[in-house]
Parts: sequence; structure tokens; C-alpha cells
Amino acid sequence: MLEVSGLAVDYGKHAALHGVGLTVAEAETVVILGANGAGKSTLLKAVAGLVRPRPGSVIDFAGQRIAGRPGHEILEAGIALVPEGRGLFPDLTVSENLRLGAHAHRARKDEAANLAMVHDLFPRLVERRRQTVSTMSGGEQQMVAIGRALMSAPRLLMLDEPSLGLAPVLVGELFATLAEIGRRGVSLLIVEQNVRASLSIAGRGYLLEAGRMVGEGPATRLINDPAVQHAFMGAS
Ligand code: ATP
Repeated sequence: MLEVSGLAVDYGKHAALHGVGLTVAEAETVVILGANGAGKSTLLKAVAGLVRPRPGSVIDFAGQRIAGRPGHEILEAGIALVPEGRGLFPDLTVSENLRLGAHAHRARKDEAANLAMVHDLFPRLVERRRQTVSTMSGGEQQMVAIGRALMSAPRLLMLDEPSLGLAPVLVGELFATLAEIGRRGVSLLIVEQNVRASLSIAGRGYLLEAGRMVGEGPATRLINDPAVQHAFMGAS
């Protein structure tokens, strides 16, 4: 459903991505692993239309050529991003933040059904719907951020380091919920430092190093690969 090839992104003279390729199939969960600065966030932002790829980069989604299109058009095509740091409106309530996610034309007529799905996935957000987001814990804020993205009824949900800063017990809950979202048919593309937890819910993974893809394979193989363990799991 998502097909990326030859994706290059420059920040001025600095090349952050040098011709990267990846695919995500319908209802598939894919993880991108890489050290800090490898270009993982840049890759998600390029797909979401938040940074401009170099001409010649190919990003195709559900039969549409989306490379270089503005972010709101890509959202309408069915791709939502939960950015690093969550990008919420801290002074607004949970309900107000969720409603902002329902702005896409594709989602407006189904707003009530989408909200019911978000409340089903995150029951705590029902109790907290009138709470100001800035007063919530990191884990609750992450629920709001994922809920807001789901309000646009995405076919592909991209998440940039969703477990960053969460207590270990919440990381387990977060990945269980992401797995449930995947079972409901949404494709997931996840950038994570938490290698084991993310690969455990994924079908495949890619290794990004200094702006280049250097490896790819089934999650079950990567999780047991000594090179991956050495590079990303702190094993020696
Ligand atoms: P992290 O996990 O630290 O966010 P990352 O793998 O997501 O790392 P990116 O944020 O995509 O990496 O950054 C890739 C490279 O591009 C890095 O060298 C970074 O310093 C550089 N970079 C990122 N954003 C910008 C920007 N707005 N202007 C200039 N350089 C940037």
C-alpha cells in the first residue's frame, strides 16, 4: 500500500536520507530501527508531507503519487503521523484535541464512530475527556496523541518513538494497544528505540543507518539477529 523508493531529503547542504526504499502492505506493521540521527524522523516526515523530498523521490500510497504533496492532502489520502513529542495542544482538553484530529474531510461524516473506537481503545480518555492535556501523565498524553491521529480514520498510522519517556509498564500497554489497532486493519509504520517491544508486534523491520537502509527482514529474524542485538539491544 505504501511504496517508497529513492527517497532523498536534504537539510540545506546536509543530506539526511540518501535514496531510501521501503514498503508497507495493507494491515501490515513495520518497524524502522536506527541510532539517533539516522534519519528515522525525517523519513516519517517526508511520507507525511512535512518535509520536502528531493525531486525524483518516489512515495506512492494506495495508487497515488504523494511525494512532495502538502501534509493536508496526504492526511486526506489516509496517512496520519503521531510525531515525536506528540504535538498536542496542551491548554485544550482531551475532547478538544481529539476533535481537532477529525478535521480531515475523509473522517468528518464518521466522527462519532471514530470517537467511539478511540474510547474503546483508550477507556481512560472517556473519564478524562474534560481534562486539560497539560495536566495529564506522559502515558495519558500519548493516548490522546494516538487517539487524535485515529480520528482522521487513517489507513496507515505512523508513530515516531511512541514509547519515549514512558514507564516500562506503560510501554507494554502501549504496544498491546498498537497491536490491537493493527488487528483492526490499520497499517502501522513505527520508529522505535524500544527494539524488542516494537519488533514483537511487527511483521517486518528495516535498519536505517546514516540515511541509508542497511538491512531488512522479518521481525522474528531481526529480534534474534546478533548484529541487531549488538547495535540496538545493548547486548555484547
Ligand atoms: P532522532 O532519534 O535523534 O530523532 P532520527 O533518526 O529521527 O534521530 P532525524 O531527526 O531524521 O534522525 O535527523 C537525521 C539527520 O538530519 C541528523 O543528522 C539531524 O541532525 C539532521 N536534521 C534533522 N532535522 C533537521 C533540520 N530541521 N535542519 C537541519 N538538519 C536536520
